[in-house]
Amino acid sequence: MRIDILTCVPNLLDSFFAHSILKRAQQGGFVEVMVHDIRDYSVNKHRTIDDYAFGGGAGMVLQIEPIARCIRGLQKERDYDEIIYLTPDGELMQQHMVNQLSLKGNIMMLCGHYKGVDQRVRDLFITKEVSIGDYVLSGGELAAAVLSDAIIRLLPGVLNDETSALTDSFQDNLLAPPVYTRPADFEGHIVPEILMSGHEARIEEWRYEQSIERTKQRRPDLLKP
Ligand code: SAM
Repeated sequence: MRIDILTCVPNLLDSFFAHSILKRAQQGGFVEVMVHDIRDYSVNKHRTIDDYAFGGGAGMVLQIEPIARCIRGLQKERDYDEIIYLTPDGELMQQHMVNQLSLKGNIMMLCGHYKGVDQRVRDLFITKEVSIGDYVLSGGELAAAVLSDAIIRLLPGVLNDETSALTDSFQDNLLAPPVYTRPADFEGHIVPEILMSGHEARIEEWRYEQSIERTKQRRPDLLKP
């Protein structure tokens, strides 16, 4: 998979992809992540990429020309399965959306800033609009990082044990059961005995029951048909 992220603050993303699972995923050749500075595609020598909104009002708007130049340049090199704009008014990001995106080959993600991007960028280039929640961030970089992380960890081979992602929350519409590790006794707080029984089938059954119980308590909406 290849992910191209278009941003006017590339430094925000550089360190995010340079650590832990995301770093290993790139080193292992499972994903290539390229961050592009929209300013490099500015059409003037001052490298400006934003301007006042037509009709007035507070806040600057990202202009179409630099973004169009960047997107078209990338499209000359490869076809993209999705060109995603991260935006608060997009489709709410959920696990089933992430599962689907993890099956794609090449994905572009556009991060907005200020008041957002000129509407014509959305009309002409964007194939999917994604929100990471009902709140407003100052830029799309964190949203692109969240979406990329959720996708990349699902790519086959990225996690040491591929079944791990399948037992996480929201797969099968359930929350994950509680997990424990050593020590078995921390100041009198004991790990449930069943987990140390070695009885795989009963452990699985216990975990399933815990998942159901936790989902009922915390996210009953997930259990609705
Ligand atoms: N004027 C926009 C609105 O009210 O919908 C908000 C613009 S916001 C200050 C700047 C940029 O941050 C957006 O263009 C988008 O790329 C990103 N952003 C902010 N909140 C987001 C969210 N919840 N999900 C995804 N992207 C978000």
